Parts: sequence; C-alpha cells; structure tokens
Amino acid sequence: MRLVRFFLEGRTGYGVLEGERLFPLWGPPFDGICRTGEMFLVDNVTLLAPAEPSKIVALALNYRDHAAEFGRPVPEEPLIFLKPPSAVIGPGEPIILPPMSRRVDYEAELGVVIGKPARLVPEEEALAYVLGYTCINDVTARDLQKKDGLFTRAKGFDTFAPLGPWIETDIPDPHRLQVETWVNGERRQQGNTRDLIFGVPRLIAFISRIMTLLPGDVIATGTPAGVGPLRPGDLVEVWVEGIGTLRNPVSAERD
Ligand code: MG
Repeated sequence: MRLVRFFLEGRTGYGVLEGERLFPLWGPPFDGICRTGEMFLVDNVTLLAPAEPSKIVALALNYRDHAAEFGRPVPEEPLIFLKPPSAVIGPGEPIILPPMSRRVDYEAELGVVIGKPARLVPEEEALAYVLGYTCINDVTARDLQKKDGLFTRAKGFDTFAPLGPWIETDIPDPHRLQVETWVNGERRQQGNTRDLIFGVPRLIAFISRIMTLLPGDVIATGTPAGVGPLRPGDLVEVWVEGIGTLRNPVSAERD
C-alpha cells in the first residue's frame, strides 16, 4: 500500500494511492486506515511529504564504501545525528541552496517511517514499529560539515530533507533494496541496503534506547558512496527499489 499526504483546495490530509486514484483517509494512518469514501485523481492534488516527523534521526557512515570515500573507519555502533522537521519538503518542491555554503551535496537514503511510539524496543520486535518506507535525500552543506565539525548547520537548512513521494508499507525485507541518485537524468550514486552496516532492527533498538520514536518520525539510514554536488537548475532524483522516485528541482536562494 502507498500512503500519501496531499493538498487540495485548502485541505490537507492522508490518503491511499492506487495507481492514479487517491482515496482520502479520515485521519493519520497510524491508528488504522479508514477511508472517507471519496476519490480524487492524483493529477488533481499536490502530493506533500508523506510524514510529519517530530524528528529525523539520521545515520552517519552506515555504508562501508561511503565511510571509505571519506577516509573514516567503520563505526562500532550506530553514529546518529538529527535533522530538524523544518527541513522537510515534499516531492517536487525545490531544494534551496543557501548563500552560506559553496558545496551542497545529495545523499540518497532509505527512510524508515515509524508507526507507533517506540521506546526500549528489542531488536527482534523492531520491525513491528515500522509503518513503511520512503525515500529521503539527506541534503548536506559539505563545506560547513567539515568546517563546523558538527552536523546541525550543514544538515539543517530549510529544504534539506526532501521526503517521499509516499510511504510504501509492503516491503517484506528492507535489506535488499537498490538505492540510487540521478541528477539531470544521469546516475550519480548507487548502492544496496544489503550493505548497511547497521540494519533497520538494530537502528530502531539502538535509537529507542536513547529517545522515544513517535509515529511519523523518520530514520534516514545513511547513504552509500558517490555523494556529489548540486547546482542551481539541477533536477535531483532519489530512487529506492520497491518504493519509487523522489524528484526535486534545485534553486539558488533569492536575496
Ligand atoms: Mg546521510
């Protein structure tokens, strides 16, 4: 099942997408899927980011090849940072390059969307806390990441967390998915979640021992090798096998 959020004539809501047809829900999907009985054509609505996370917990260096391209050792336990919810944008919305940075990179990642409050979750029960999976682009001001030594500024600009286009609930195994970035129709990054150093159950178990994960929260599972820069006018696509393509144009910030 594909779960979306949409905007239509002043109204926002959740829905189920079946082909071109969107079936609105009475409320968020976390407590059950309850259709209103209406139907819209997806071309007539604007798709929004499919979740409204209270936080995005992201992984640094969770693929060996990506750690190698930065000359960093593989971490012994998951290395996490936060992206603010204000950075979230939906499919089709522009990534805005801030004047403060001279080098902004794409990072294609599998996003895990949490379905129910998760605190002290054992690894073997962790997948029961997942609503579904989506694409996330962990947009990063690489120069500021190096300069600051901390990730908050580099990863936290508005528009630096494109999310979507929907939440796919039917992913039996999140550890065998191809993950790619395409820029202007050229493939720039490719990896597979089979190469994740820490898999999804381990991440949920680890993070939920630190902070409670809430419905709609997103775990960005890390990016494979091949990160590179974005420029004004680019069209960047994050594709995750079994989910779909998250497309965003790139613009320079207007003064
Ligand atoms: Mg990342």
